[in-house]
Amino acid sequence: MKNTYRIALGVAAACGLVLPAISQTGVVDQAELKQIMAQHPDWAKWLTDPKLASLTLAGPQMPNSQWRADDIRRPQPPKVETGTACSTAVPGDADVLFDGKDLSKWTGDHFEEWTLKDGVVTTGARVYNFLKTKQSYGDSQIHVEFREPAQPNPPLNPQYHGNSGVFPMGLYEVQILDGTNNQTYPDGMVGAIYTQSPPLVNAGRPQGVWQCYDIVFHAPRFSGATVTEPARMTVMLNGVLVQDNTVLIGATVHGKVASYTPHAAELPLALQDHGNPDSHVSFRNIWIRRLKS
Ligand code: MG
Repeated sequence: MKNTYRIALGVAAACGLVLPAISQTGVVDQAELKQIMAQHPDWAKWLTDPKLASLTLAGPQMPNSQWRADDIRRPQPPKVETGTACSTAVPGDADVLFDGKDLSKWTGDHFEEWTLKDGVVTTGARVYNFLKTKQSYGDSQIHVEFREPAQPNPPLNPQYHGNSGVFPMGLYEVQILDGTNNQTYPDGMVGAIYTQSPPLVNAGRPQGVWQCYDIVFHAPRFSGATVTEPARMTVMLNGVLVQDNTVLIGATVHGKVASYTPHAAELPLALQDHGNPDSHVSFRNIWIRRLKS
């Protein structure tokens, strides 16, 4: 904080004036931090980390929103129970990307660090080690089943609890995270379009239970350097609508406001390894359908 601003706040407080909301990106209001930690003992465990406090309380302002990027003050979406059912018949015109037998449809820079065992593929422990399809896709319907790991001694940071993600075009993340007893900033929880759009509800299931994403993705269109149609996503998590034709403001970023960089009309689908040891996310039954536009 600049000294002049700190002095101005001190004078205002001394005069009994209501302090203005601090609007500078990266500057945490320590009084507000203390208040939030007192109100939310679970959050207090990780808000003691200055980097996490800055990320979740002092990110950049999101466009057309009262909230900042990765803002812990956003209301937590209500919890919705979804049972355990997941399996669905594979449509006849789908590309089956993973049926438990092999990873022949996939590649990646450190492909060998993902493990295939008992019909399930599981993340390794290398941060941002993406499993990518060999084929490229644009507008598509995507089905992915995933399972959160048991984590009896979880790390403090909620973002290290079973973090992965489904990335249409390798660029636009639908977050995978433990959504049970693991509150984080709502635009970073399971069902979120990461750092853009919280889910309508928390439809996450407990650790160890298979969950399913059904995603309708419309790729962005570009004319030269200009985006003429932004990407859109409709997302069902465990059969419950969590993103309703959400308009994306750009490719996924962390702690920033996203923006578009022109890219090809089709790109590989990717799954994220977030690189957290002892917190491996597993996948089964992955298929994709190309949508005619
Ligand atoms: Mg993720």
